[in-house]
Amino acid sequence: MFVSMLRARLPLALCSLLVVAAPIPALTQRRPPAAQPQRPNWAQIEVETMQHFQALLRFDTSDPPGNEKPAADYLKQVLEREGIPVEIVFNEANRPNVIARLKGNGSKRPLLIMAHTDVVNTDSTKWAHPPFSATREAGYVYGRGAVDDKDNVVAGLMMMLMLKRMNVPLDRDVIFLAEAGEEGATRVGIQLITQQHWPKIDAEYCLAEGGNVTRVGGQVKYASVQTLEKIPRGIELTARGPAGHGSVPLRGNAVVHLAAAVAKIGATRTPIKLNETTRAYFQRLATISTPAEARRYLDAISGDAAKMNAADDQLYDLEPRHSSMLRTSVSPNIITGGYRSNVIPSEAKATLDVRMVPGEDTTALLAELRRIIDDPAVTVAFSSRASRPETGIQRLDSEGFRAIEAAVKRTYNAVTLPTMSTGATDMAYVRERGVQCYGIGPAIDVEDGPKGFGAHSDQERILEVELHRFVRFQWDIVEGLGRARRVP
Ligand SMILES: [Zn+2]
Repeated sequence: MFVSMLRARLPLALCSLLVVAAPIPALTQRRPPAAQPQRPNWAQIEVETMQHFQALLRFDTSDPPGNEKPAADYLKQVLEREGIPVEIVFNEANRPNVIARLKGNGSKRPLLIMAHTDVVNTDSTKWAHPPFSATREAGYVYGRGAVDDKDNVVAGLMMMLMLKRMNVPLDRDVIFLAEAGEEGATRVGIQLITQQHWPKIDAEYCLAEGGNVTRVGGQVKYASVQTLEKIPRGIELTARGPAGHGSVPLRGNAVVHLAAAVAKIGATRTPIKLNETTRAYFQRLATISTPAEARRYLDAISGDAAKMNAADDQLYDLEPRHSSMLRTSVSPNIITGGYRSNVIPSEAKATLDVRMVPGEDTTALLAELRRIIDDPAVTVAFSSRASRPETGIQRLDSEGFRAIEAAVKRTYNAVTLPTMSTGATDMAYVRERGVQCYGIGPAIDVEDGPKGFGAHSDQERILEVELHRFVRFQWDIVEGLGRARRVP
């Protein structure tokens, strides 16, 4: 096994876990006392949230083929009815994207709230309630998209309606983007918008899917806020050798060379590479874990090579997602070669799924894999597979992250774990432009995924109380970042 470690011990710069909410600004003496900010009527908001949520769930926006148009039309109509201007952009007529904007006084750069209207496909025979029925039962709402991502769509919609109705004075524009194609056709969604309509969503901060609040036994344990994501790439191993008759084995058999190379890669973990997010993640997770788990997390970020190696070995066996979060991961997932049993093929290929930590040196990574394989018959090269862009480093000491942490504390009374997701999201395209993006989501019972009710599962559902709490959570963030601090 090959595991080398970073030598340098890097400082553990952690934000304070408790961030006090920004004070309400003092009014100047020349002005009469202004009314207190109006409080939302939450009982009414909940009724309306549920109406819109069920309406959105009932549109079959399965991707492929997508057909997000009915959901986009619905959002447009609801927003315009409130007097909120809406723009529709698309490159396929049945897959439109909705962009709405509320103007602020311009003293700060905009806040973007984004969510996708498409959903993954369903096998309706596996659903107790039809996947587009939005059935309410025993405190849950069932439907494809309930936690991915029509929860975020409806929350974003409600933010716009509430800001507008309550006439909240804003320091910055608040933009709502409901995009198509996130589940596999970003060319009609976020790529189209970032490449051809960038000024419409250009912002300082963005909120999107990618985080959630974890409940265990019905109790909130922590909030995961996605502040970083790995960058997916493919690497191809190609073994070449002489072709021949299968009755005469050859030392140069391409299949044998490829198999040996794949075995070496499978036994390898690349060096641990930490960043601000992963250090803070493990540090904070340790504070709410069992002593044995906490030891592993703290050892893994300790800077002591022996301790890091030992912790990493345990994580790989017990918590493989956490092992992946420590490094650029490499997983051999496709292997091809040969076409009939009596022919020695001249070529065999393997495809590695590589998930790079931001800032990875791609040239050094290829060189390292070549060194491990150590076989001139095998070439190592990046494949042409579509990737997501490299993203800039996200900061945890920003106004945006602090506002989210404070809202987590107030809404859930829980610790915020800044998280680097091992998978990729649409936020990569927005972060590439320098926007600080944060993935958030509602509280989900950790037990619900294994029961088959999670995102992309055979069935999907959300707790009604948690949908409503998520809207209040998002309101806390959006109002905190958006409401004007100074009397004009
Ligand atoms: Zn999603």
